[in-house]
Amino acid sequence: MTDYSHCTITHYPTAVLREKAQPIEEINDDIRRLAERMVDIMVETKGVGLAGPQAGVNLRIFVVSIDGTNENARVYINPTIKPEGKVVAFEEGCLSLPGIFGKVNRYAKCTVTATDLDGHEFTEVGEGLLARAFQHEFDHLEGMMIKDRLGYAAKLRAKRRLKQLEKEYDENSK
Ligand SMILES: [Zn+2]
Repeated sequence: MTDYSHCTITHYPTAVLREKAQPIEEINDDIRRLAERMVDIMVETKGVGLAGPQAGVNLRIFVVSIDGTNENARVYINPTIKPEGKVVAFEEGCLSLPGIFGKVNRYAKCTVTATDLDGHEFTEVGEGLLARAFQHEFDHLEGMMIKDRLGYAAKLRAKRRLKQLEKEYDENSK
């Protein structure tokens, strides 16, 4: 049994954020508690999505709630995504990169196939902000963050803030 009830948000440069997350083999009470905790973190930090590595857990799970509410939160376990349509640039932020914002290219439409907390497979088609959230959260499961997708100028602007986050991380891990 793994106790996920005390997970907290991880910030860059925590190592788990750069790792490829592992498939969830069994959906049990531990995973259900993890999902619950992830939704809590997302709502508390006023996000619209959160992936396992952002809760410090190296597992392929994310939660999304486009209006940031508990009621509309949905859990996606072992998701696969199929982005399509045209590519749109839009401002994005990330709970694991506080203070960093920039335009990121994403596909306008995205189909997700995933397993829910009852072990049932489902498919959902997202457009606009929802499609963007799916692609953003899926990136986290691949060890990728918006800082890797920013354009040249935004990357330069983010540089100093990234250095600050590295310093904060060093200080907190002392
Ligand atoms: Zn993020």
